[in-house]
Amino acid sequence: MSNSGEPFDRTRAERGLLFIVSAPSGTGKTTLAERLVQGLSNLHMSRSYTSRPARAGEQDGVDYNFISRARFETMVRDGAFLEWADVFGNCYGTSTADTEAVLARGDDVVLVIDVQGARQVRSRGIETVDIFVLPPSAAILEQRLRGRSKDTEAQINKRLEVACREVNEFAQYEYVVINDELETAVARIGAIVLAERARVKVMRGAAEAIIETFKGRRNDGNARSTQR
Ligand code: 5GP
Repeated sequence: MSNSGEPFDRTRAERGLLFIVSAPSGTGKTTLAERLVQGLSNLHMSRSYTSRPARAGEQDGVDYNFISRARFETMVRDGAFLEWADVFGNCYGTSTADTEAVLARGDDVVLVIDVQGARQVRSRGIETVDIFVLPPSAAILEQRLRGRSKDTEAQINKRLEVACREVNEFAQYEYVVINDELETAVARIGAIVLAERARVKVMRGAAEAIIETFKGRRNDGNARSTQR
């Protein structure tokens, strides 16, 4: 995918689209989403707030907004989150204001959130395009979780147990993408984004501007053709 292939992006919409990507832990959804936003213009990954401590190599304001549990709870009370969830004992949430700022300028946002968060966004009647990413099999997911070796045996088992429940949610989503091979999966999600951007409801403004340029020309053309 390249940025140059979308000449009408800037004119396409007054308001951006909200994409949700969910997948069991270890499916590679964050890598997928990062690759996706690198390859497409006007698409931004939301930066969640979390009460989880930063892992080695993670940066505040880059990977997450790392905040205390007390501050997280205050934000929940203030209604600052579009959605939030307790995942593996830590709180994660999406800021309504941050998301709205991007959508309001006509750019698209990708939320990489768990199934509970996706359910909350849907239940609020917010228009979204949601995508569920599946690993090719349970055995491959287990291999990937063990391969990244950042978790203890107990944590890996917990993630697998949660994954067994979460995969059953796939039918609540509009799209399913299997992450068998990274580049292929990125291309599949990219195709979904581009297709959603080409919907009439999204393209109406840009299309109408083009239609304007035809006004007054049709009769002239007819006039010329009848003269011949
Ligand atoms: P991790 O701690 O491994 O970075 O993320 C754990 C889980 O939290 C992942 O499944 C991830 O999708 C989910 N997550 C990250 N940010 C958010 C968020 O803002 N809201 C919700 N509901 N889940 C999130």
